[in-house]
Amino acid sequence: MISVDTAQALCLGLVRAGPAEDVDLAQALGRVLATPLTAKRDQPPFSASAMDGYAVQSGQATTGSTFDVIGEAAAGHGWDGHVGPGQAVRIFTGAPVPDGATRVIIQENVTRIGDQITLTEPLKDNINIRPQGADFTRTFSLDAPRALTPADLALIAAMNHANVAVTRRPKVALISTGDELLMPGGDPGPDQIIASNVFALQAMLAQTGAKAHVLPIAPDTTEALDATLAQAADWGADIIVTIGGASVGDHDLVAPALDRFGVTRSFHKIAMRPGKPLMAGAKGDVAFLGLPGNPVSAVVCGHLFLLPMVRRALGLGDVLPPALTARLTAPLPAGGPRAHYMRARFDEGDAARQVTAFDRQDSSMLTVLAEANCLLLRPIDDAPKAAGDAVTIYPI
Ligand code: AMP
Ligand code: MG
Repeated sequence: MISVDTAQALCLGLVRAGPAEDVDLAQALGRVLATPLTAKRDQPPFSASAMDGYAVQSGQATTGSTFDVIGEAAAGHGWDGHVGPGQAVRIFTGAPVPDGATRVIIQENVTRIGDQITLTEPLKDNINIRPQGADFTRTFSLDAPRALTPADLALIAAMNHANVAVTRRPKVALISTGDELLMPGGDPGPDQIIASNVFALQAMLAQTGAKAHVLPIAPDTTEALDATLAQAADWGADIIVTIGGASVGDHDLVAPALDRFGVTRSFHKIAMRPGKPLMAGAKGDVAFLGLPGNPVSAVVCGHLFLLPMVRRALGLGDVLPPALTARLTAPLPAGGPRAHYMRARFDEGDAARQVTAFDRQDSSMLTVLAEANCLLLRPIDDAPKAAGDAVTIYPI
């Protein structure tokens, strides 16, 4: 059986970054910038007043100095003339600083009588002017790839771009397999259970930026599986994910179905717990991932394999789940022959990040998964651990 690292590398080898498309800035949140974006102007585009007050040539001005007010500049309405010694222009925040002026005296520090002001306080260091290009100049560029945040959208807007080139969202088809499965809200027979893990996977895909499409549940027949795989391909999926039927029991039909479909398999089974029956492959440009059916196994494999594939398809650089280090709150016995991704809860603690593994680690326990906020990695044949020992965790 191959290791998790090897399986992750093989999965990533099945996907490429998708093409770029132009989207409206208002639709660009969370999308991945496809190419570096250069500013079309300086910001601010002119030296601008940072306060309401009076623009002057500060020179020797001291408390008691007087200035003649000769004009007014407001945001969107600059004043064209030149400010000479002993002169002032009434100015408001965001207005271009007129020619000749070297500072803005805030209005609280003067008294005004008619068209004359008198400085009532000593000048401080702050000249209350934002120089042209203080935020960015037209040589500034935003590097790609980059998942766009709300602040990025404001920055791109200030750079005077209305559209932005982002990578296409990969299309991911989700196929639940099993005679026992029923969608939630139905009327289950005595032998039936609800298809649940597909809802977690769909949400994880949406959060990561993929377009997920849930296909009808495929019963455990070759005909149903073949037809559903064909439906997923017809929809134009970039990644086709099956859930369940991945082992080698009589009812585990996925591996032979992928063979019939013409998928070149890159691996089947990995040294991991939960998730041993995982398989992956490709047919042309379409990647296939066969997840185990147990709800926790499917979700854990989703975090470790499917989401990295999606991030790769989005053109992102760091695609693997980020690892953190935490201190155990309780001892753990020796690890086994497969890497164990235990459901656990971590908190930042006062002195150090702390993590507690749940007692119940069965791969069908959704209540435990719902309480977990990380996976705690026990590497293959890991030595027993004491409370306080450092372990690797992956926030989920
Ligand atoms: P399988 O991988 O098909 O052998 O399924 C393993 C276990 O997971 C069985 O108990 C299935 O009933 C259950 N299971 C399979 N698919 C799903 C699903 N989509 N949602 C919830 N449980 C499932
Ligand atoms: Mg099954």
